[in-house]
Amino acid sequence: SATSYDAIILGAGAAGLMAALTAGQRGRRVLLVDHAGEPGKKILISGGGRCNFTNIHTAADRYISENPHFARSALARYTPADFLELVNRHSIAWHEKTLGQLFCDGSARQIVEMLMAECRDGGVSFAFGDPVSGVEHADGRYRVMIDGREHQAPSLVLATGGLSIPKMGATGFALDIARKFGLSVVQTRPALVPFTLGEDEALFRSLSGVSADVIARWGKTAFREAALFTHKGLSGPAMLQISSYWQHRTPIEVNFLPDAGTDWLIEEKQARPRSAFRTAIARRLPERLAETLVERLGLDGELSTLRDGALRNAQEKLARWPFHPNGTEGYAKAEVTAGGISTRVLSQKTMEAGKVPGLHAIGEAVDVTGWLGGYNFQWAWASGRAAGEAI
Ligand code: FAD
Repeated sequence: SATSYDAIILGAGAAGLMAALTAGQRGRRVLLVDHAGEPGKKILISGGGRCNFTNIHTAADRYISENPHFARSALARYTPADFLELVNRHSIAWHEKTLGQLFCDGSARQIVEMLMAECRDGGVSFAFGDPVSGVEHADGRYRVMIDGREHQAPSLVLATGGLSIPKMGATGFALDIARKFGLSVVQTRPALVPFTLGEDEALFRSLSGVSADVIARWGKTAFREAALFTHKGLSGPAMLQISSYWQHRTPIEVNFLPDAGTDWLIEEKQARPRSAFRTAIARRLPERLAETLVERLGLDGELSTLRDGALRNAQEKLARWPFHPNGTEGYAKAEVTAGGISTRVLSQKTMEAGKVPGLHAIGEAVDVTGWLGGYNFQWAWASGRAAGEAI
């Protein structure tokens, strides 16, 4: 005999927990399901263990989607201030790190415990640690098999996240179910992911561990943050951010001199004519990076011996240095998955699929991908809230 609920939520990550506590506290009978033995595993490892749980600068233009307007409604109805109110109510200490990023002072575990306590307040039932199979829809009810037992409800919420970090149990489950019910899926790709460099740029791989404050640019999109060289290629916040926009076989451009005036090198020549070119560059960049760039530029000697035109030219190159990534480190290292269940088939108010009544999709499984810095959790909270209020 099947157990009946008002809603079954598949995936007890950020979005699923929020949807469950919201619906539960509205008096709905909710079953929250996860194949992992414990909820919120990605929350636990997020933000280096401190969970960058939101960003106070949240706005729809900080999300990537085929329909950039889709996220607006849910984000406006559940804001960073709303989540912060919850965090404060649970007396969890937090701080702003940089660029509006809010982190726990203590541990990400406090966020999971807070969400679980709120779920318990809402009388949510849990089914953790067993695989889910046989999702069917007939006579207005969804049937789900867990460990040989059938559960059913008129509403089903897909909240099993994206493909990033399969080692932690990420699966394409939400996408498979969406396809099974005829919903279109935007091609997925790893995002917020380090780049790999090929043989032509192997020289830079020897800089592994060096970082610099840069502007990374792809097309019209640019981020000013730290870049980090790795033994495989390029990482650090600036590179992770730009990776979400990057398309294969296109270059990214790096400005290594974000604060230098246009004639900086010529002014250096006037001020310190006896200084070596590489010493001048090393005044603004880490030494090993400066050496590598100077080697590539093929310019050397005392500044006084170099023509203004050559200096201007060198400076322009350092401000628009092209890198040609041959790929990324993939889902194994991607913080998020871009693409996913198409926003075109979902209601921005309820996250329900128009043509499959009662079926909702939230969080990273949906084609809405935030910047680095707490934006992805804010989307998970906001979309989870929207579904939780509708079911
Ligand atoms: P998830 O949190 O991934 O939850 C999905 C749940 O579904 C999981 O519990 C999983 O076990 C379960 N599941 C998957 N497949 C199945 C299946 N077949 N059957 C049953 N259950 C299943 N974002 C930020 O905003 N700030 C950060 O500081 C941050 N740090 C991060 C650090 C790392 C290392 C990573 C990988 C990501 C980070 N992110 C961060 C991104 C953020 O974790 C995700 O965007 C967010 O967790 C998405 O929430 P979700 O609920 O949609 O999916």
